[in-house]
Amino acid sequence: MTALIAASDALRRFAMSRLRRMGLRSIHPDWQQRAAVCELCPMRVIRCGVSYCGNPFLEQIDRDPTTDGCGCPCREKAQAPAEHCPIDSRHQAARRGQTCCSCKWCQSAATLPSQRQRSIVSAA
Ligand code: SF4
Ligand SMILES: [Zn+2]
Repeated sequence: MTALIAASDALRRFAMSRLRRMGLRSIHPDWQQRAAVCELCPMRVIRCGVSYCGNPFLEQIDRDPTTDGCGCPCREKAQAPAEHCPIDSRHQAARRGQTCCSCKWCQSAATLPSQRQRSIVSAA
């Protein structure tokens, strides 16, 4: 990915996260589960108490998301419904098809009950 494309992608993500904070964009129902996967990930970097997927983007604009992470704050990225983790559980590039995804978040979701499923169980 060229630095220009990466910078434009990071800007788009930043704008979307601001809209989500204002309640103008949807939030992934299992974002906490996704963020919890990040907290255990060796790619995670902490700056000023905030977890990032790799070094924060502005510290490393030229990057390969598979080896460097995307540079986004994990919590905000996890809240974005269309986002995916860039790697699989073997730290290889995640593969995405029409109906499945090998990323760490989606594989975690496939093995753990979702927030909605937990709510149904606790209400029963
Ligand atoms: S998005 Fe994926 S690679 Fe990035 S910190 Fe989270 S689990 Fe790790
Ligand atoms: Zn995924």
